[in-house]
Amino acid sequence: MSRAWQEDAAAASRAGRDRRSADRIIVEQVRQAVLAQRLPPGTRLPETTLGEVFGVSRSVVRKALTRLAAEHVVSQRPNQVARVRAPSVAETRDTFAARRLVEGEVVALLAGRLDAEALNTLEARVSHEAEAYAASDETARIEHSLAIHHLLAERSPNRVLGTMLTDLILRTSIVIALYKHPRVASCYLPDDHPALLAHLRNGEAEAARQGIHGHLHALEERLELGSRDASPDLMSIFARHAAV
Ligand SMILES: [Zn+2]
Repeated sequence: MSRAWQEDAAAASRAGRDRRSADRIIVEQVRQAVLAQRLPPGTRLPETTLGEVFGVSRSVVRKALTRLAAEHVVSQRPNQVARVRAPSVAETRDTFAARRLVEGEVVALLAGRLDAEALNTLEARVSHEAEAYAASDETARIEHSLAIHHLLAERSPNRVLGTMLTDLILRTSIVIALYKHPRVASCYLPDDHPALLAHLRNGEAEAARQGIHGHLHALEERLELGSRDASPDLMSIFARHAAV
């Protein structure tokens, strides 16, 4: 096996130097696979299979699954195999509603208060995002898009709201990845991020809040909240990814 992350996980586990690093690798890989839509909602994640895939013991896998459950990526029930979470329609709507409230308040607080460095970083991300979209590089586009929202969370003057926003960004990202309409190539809304940046720069708090509300409404409306078949082969999913 020549998969770098797999060797990292196995080595970290063997050395016992830091079991957390083996957990962390599994958490990151599973989270990324869900975000990249390689693990559909409902996918079974048996401890033994994950242990084989990552070359670690079941106890390490169990810790990773506990962490993923805390992040709302997987669901765990007593005496049942863990699965990729399949949030209900109601939960999905509630998550978007919560993010609208929290992120709307964060951008209203940030309007006119971001320093030149933060504004420049946002501006660069916005243009890189547009370039990635033009190049049909969806992975890069999502990365830039997420970086924009995470920067807002990090800079939130209200740290409680900032932490809540970081959590809600992950939860909505997972929902978008799980329920994006298969015929919609991208959730990209080309005018939204540039408009938000202008409102932040100009100190237009209410416009920034309304912009975020509209942005998140539009993303939510693009989702197809139905069920999908979920029995992919874990070994091939992670092996294919690792070979890229
Ligand atoms: Zn956005």
